[in-house]
Formats: sequence, structure tokens, C-alpha cells
Amino acid sequence: MSYNYFMYTLVYSINNDKNPETVYINLTNACSNSCIFCLRNQKDDVCGAEMWHDDNYTLEDIIKQFKAFSAVKNVVFCGYGEPFLKKDMMKSFCQYLRKNYPNIKIRVNTNGHANAIYKSNILKEFKGLLDEVSVSLNSDNADEYINICNPKIENAYEEVKRFIKTCSDAGIKTTASVVTGFDNREINTENCQKIAESLGANFRIREFIINGY
Ligand code: SF4
Repeated sequence: MSYNYFMYTLVYSINNDKNPETVYINLTNACSNSCIFCLRNQKDDVCGAEMWHDDNYTLEDIIKQFKAFSAVKNVVFCGYGEPFLKKDMMKSFCQYLRKNYPNIKIRVNTNGHANAIYKSNILKEFKGLLDEVSVSLNSDNADEYINICNPKIENAYEEVKRFIKTCSDAGIKTTASVVTGFDNREINTENCQKIAESLGANFRIREFIINGY
């Protein structure tokens, strides 16, 4: 059965902005991490948009929801899950955007596991389709990364760093991020910044807030 596209959220804005410059794409609820600060553990919605679904939708459903917004300048693949797990759908929507809205900037927020999961450099499939990639680094060491992110893949921390380097080497604007302020955890942000920069990426600290994003 295919859902009516109005029934759940594939495309959303934050703060219930009706004419946002930035919209977010919620491709999947699946993820190869289970981060302790993940919003999925805290709540079911982002700014009132119900985020749970079962991936049973089509490209047309995304496009219909996207067209409800009229002044979009930025599209961010984000949502309640790891967007690259739906990479073919992501690629199709990126191609649609490039063809029909060539001035829109496209970013993906990712956990950086994709190349390990697909066992190939998937960025080659996205050549010319992504303006920016934001990768969750989350720690300056593998043990802490495992404690925070509970990854379901082997050598996840090394894979994340490798992905960051692969993105920056591909000429994509790349940001490595960490979340601070959750559960009184002390993250060594100085070290994280050094690691990010050594991989050719910018660095961003994201303060944990319950509404996220
Ligand atoms: S990587 Fe993102 S979606 Fe996945 S568990 Fe962590 S915070 Fe949640």
C-alpha cells in the first residue's frame, strides 16, 4: 500500500515557517547508529511535524510535498534517520532539483557510514549533486564514539573519518560536527576541531537542544 503523501512528513521546515529558505528531507527512520542524544529517543516530531514513517513512498510524494514550499534556497537531507540509506531516492530527488531548481543548494547531514555500508565510494554517484556534506564526528576517539553513537558497523569511527576525508578530497564543502551539552558529557572539542581540519573539513559544534536542528 502506498500512503497518501499528506499523511506523513517527507519534507518539512522548522519553526512552522510557511515560506522557509531551507527545507529538510526526511527520507528514512533507519540508521546505522543509535546515538544517545538522537531526537528519535526524545520525541516523535520536529516542530510539530510527525517524523515516523516506514519508507513506503515514491519520488512523486517527495516532489508533491516539496512543491508546497515556494521560496526554497536550501534543501537539507536530514530527518529521523541516515539519509544515505536511501541513496537511490536521494540521488533521484537531487537530480530533480538540479534539473528544475538549479540555484537551490543541496546539503546532506550524515553519520558518515555510507561508504562502509555500500563498500564503495558512493560520492561518485553524487558527482555534481551535493553542495555540502555535514558529517557527525561526535568524538576525538573511537571508544567514546562507540559509547555515544552505538554504531552497528565495524570500525565506525575510522570509517567516519575516512568518509570526511573522501568528501573533502572530492571538493565538496565538508563540515565535521560534534554535539555538546547532552547529559553533561565533556567532549574534547579542541581535539575534534584538529581532527576535522586535518581531514580537510570545517568544524561545527552543535549544542544539544530538544527541538534539534
Ligand atoms: S546518526 Fe543521526 S539519526 Fe542516526 S542515531 Fe545518530 S542522531 Fe539519530
